Amino acid sequence: METKITKIETYIVRDKLSQSFYFSQWRYSERCICLVKITDNNGNYGWGEGYGPASVLEAGIKLLKPLLIGENPLNNEVIWSKMYRKTLDYARKGVLVASISAIDIAIMDLKGKTLGLPVSSLIGGAQRKKVEPYATGMYFSDLKNPSKNYQKEAEKYINMGFKAIKMKVGLGVKQDFHNVKLMREIIGNDIMLMIDSNHAYNYNEALSLAKKVEQFDISWFEEPLSPEYYEQYAELRKNTIIPIAGGECEYLRFGFLQLLKSKSLDILQPDICSCGGITEAKRIAALATSYGIPIVPHTWGSGIGIHVALQFIANLESIPGRLIEAPFLLEYDQTENRIRDYLTIPKIEIKNGEIQIPTNPGLGVDVDERFLYDFSESDEIDIKKVLG
Ligand code: MG
Repeated sequence: METKITKIETYIVRDKLSQSFYFSQWRYSERCICLVKITDNNGNYGWGEGYGPASVLEAGIKLLKPLLIGENPLNNEVIWSKMYRKTLDYARKGVLVASISAIDIAIMDLKGKTLGLPVSSLIGGAQRKKVEPYATGMYFSDLKNPSKNYQKEAEKYINMGFKAIKMKVGLGVKQDFHNVKLMREIIGNDIMLMIDSNHAYNYNEALSLAKKVEQFDISWFEEPLSPEYYEQYAELRKNTIIPIAGGECEYLRFGFLQLLKSKSLDILQPDICSCGGITEAKRIAALATSYGIPIVPHTWGSGIGIHVALQFIANLESIPGRLIEAPFLLEYDQTENRIRDYLTIPKIEIKNGEIQIPTNPGLGVDVDERFLYDFSESDEIDIKKVLG
């Protein structure tokens, strides 16, 4: 009997934070994520996650639902094309693409579970067994004294085994310079340090900050400028030795092609949960290798999103190839987030500064339905099953 999709459920999972934190754009007081579960006629299921405003993402998934029922989940590219054509006229970039992404991820998880293969095998095989996580942190808890927790937080990451740390900038060039200098002093010279302004600056400010912090061995400057200004990115790249990274606000292979053609970036950071899912991220990776630009995916969600990135990174082609491969990095957000830490099982473990890429079918994880019940706003949860 042919496998067919029979059910699509969405869940909005929300966690209030014990303490708010800031970055250059706004304050976070909660984490809120839209998940999707897709089930087939054999009772197999897959989980997906979208990156973006959860309620809008959920509405997008509901819009696409009728296209999916009855489709064979093994045909991920066929389903992807249907979703793309349905939304093309209204949303070539933005949250509807994130809805497509969440569905595509759930379909790939389901496909892997159906075939008994990890997602990395579905997209061509694992070129490596492990990745090196870097800690995304150093948000601001106190805007009057933004570097207050640096020492404690940096020590925590180094003790966990992290060899690379990404800190937030974007509070103004003078303040950022002070913070970056302090951070380099705290962590010494052996830990990689990246900075991320979340597009807080105009061209002159971004150039000024880049020139001032070049001396601190910065591995990349992420989103120095608004993602709209492809030419300014290219200009900045020419004028600093710090590699320029970005792409978490870009969508589909067409958007990434524009970034590559305009020579805007040294490092491409698609978020697989919003750029079009695994099916599209694989195409973006092919484009990136055509331009000789490495990919370090953006991740900022639940354990599902992290496992999507792990499977994708497993398959990334090493360009250039050489006997001793440069480490492949995984973004591992370390801000308070119980959804990231407890939604999926088994837990992610860092050993000797590395994470082993799971080889179990699909994404290699399952969702803890008890946790989902406690943190979800959805009325679609089968309470009897959860409590039974
Ligand atoms: Mg970022």
